[in-house]
Amino acid sequence: MTVLVRSGVGPLCALARAAIPSIWRGNYFSSGNEPAENNPVTPMLRHLIYKIKSTGPITVAEYMKEVLTNPAKGYYVYRDMLGEQGDFITSPEISQIFGELLGIWFISEWMATGKSTAFQLVELGPGRGTLVGDILRVFTQLGSVLKNCDISVHLVEVSQKLSEIQALTLTEEKVPLERNVGSPVYMKGVTKSGIPISWYRRLHDVPKGYSFYLAHEFFDVLPVHKFQKTPQGWREVFIDIDPQISDKLRFVLAPSATPAEAFIQHDETRDHVEVCPDAGVIIEELSQRIALTGGAALVADYGHDGTKTDTFRGFCGHKLHDVLIAPGTADLTADVDFSYLRRMAQGKVASLGPIKQHTFLKNMGIDVRLKVLLDKSNEPSVRQQLLQGYDMLMNPKKMGERFNFFALLPHERLQGGRHQRNARQSKPFASLVAGFSELAWQ
Ligand code: SAH
Repeated sequence: MTVLVRSGVGPLCALARAAIPSIWRGNYFSSGNEPAENNPVTPMLRHLIYKIKSTGPITVAEYMKEVLTNPAKGYYVYRDMLGEQGDFITSPEISQIFGELLGIWFISEWMATGKSTAFQLVELGPGRGTLVGDILRVFTQLGSVLKNCDISVHLVEVSQKLSEIQALTLTEEKVPLERNVGSPVYMKGVTKSGIPISWYRRLHDVPKGYSFYLAHEFFDVLPVHKFQKTPQGWREVFIDIDPQISDKLRFVLAPSATPAEAFIQHDETRDHVEVCPDAGVIIEELSQRIALTGGAALVADYGHDGTKTDTFRGFCGHKLHDVLIAPGTADLTADVDFSYLRRMAQGKVASLGPIKQHTFLKNMGIDVRLKVLLDKSNEPSVRQQLLQGYDMLMNPKKMGERFNFFALLPHERLQGGRHQRNARQSKPFASLVAGFSELAWQ
């Protein structure tokens, strides 16, 4: 596979993206059956074995948190795992059209809610900054619409390495970045289109104010607790050292009930569940902010509506990877339970979705955008890449059905707030939210 260099920046041109591997993070794999010789002792494995020996088996959530975001050795902290040289590929890295349509979504919501004089674009887990870069390009192209609006960009990122890549992708070289490792705003700069941009480690530190929030393939990396139904009731899955093979980890069941059981629904019918308290905390924070100051949140991820069981899996070098092998060298992820996100938002804001990626992108006009780019491009390799990218994003057997879109909006947005009084329609207002129904400029 070769990575093609980005070419051209004009409004209608096609931007070349990484060659598309055949695997994305929606695939599944069960763990625990790798032969011992495939189990190198990584610094993270050594750290975990030491930890388990000192304080006992750890929950899957603690394991995920340590492996992914431990400040010294975490998988996300010091590497670029996206793209051809990395471990997995995501929609914005596959096709520029993805980010462009999301940019249109934010502008459409901004217009539908009264064209505020300022807004913050906040992305959680921005990866290489590709998605926000594509969104900002749309904002520039629609500069005449947004001309009186004060926009700022706020990125929530724990990875030192990725934040550096984001800065390279997004900021103007001539304006030096301000850095302050000890501060909640650890980096500040100006984007190529002259917009102020800041980096934070936690959503909590992003200033409150009218904001559009975006989380693409972010919730799936948050730590999950796993539970198995047993004749004695729910028992949490822990990770322990294998007594047969030193330096090898294995799953075990807790002998008695554990506190995270409180997150399981009383009427749960599945026999295995994954719960993600951190996702609940973030959705509550987003909901409170949107209820207080307006705006919207768009969440896109693979997931289910409270129906799936064991979805915990690993990715390394574009291959599925045993989650307990060589920790720290592979990505760990679990499907997002959208029914839980909806419950956590309930009462504070309205939610829409989850709807399938192919429906959302179709409603946002992906076919029209593809045609424009194809018509403008004479380069056969770029045309082929555009078509392959479209197929990867839209094909129900690829990302089209595995990925979902979910939105949080102020209640007034769906009830017809003061900016929607002239919409004399019998349809519910949800039908006016782009992506969840066909895009219609208002
Ligand atoms: N949204 C990007 C990247 C997805 S990978 C894309 O779709 O291409 C997950 C991203 O979340 C990475 O940027 C990772 O560093 C970041 N991340 C992981 N855990 C995080 C946490 N707890 N807080 C903030 N960012 C986190």
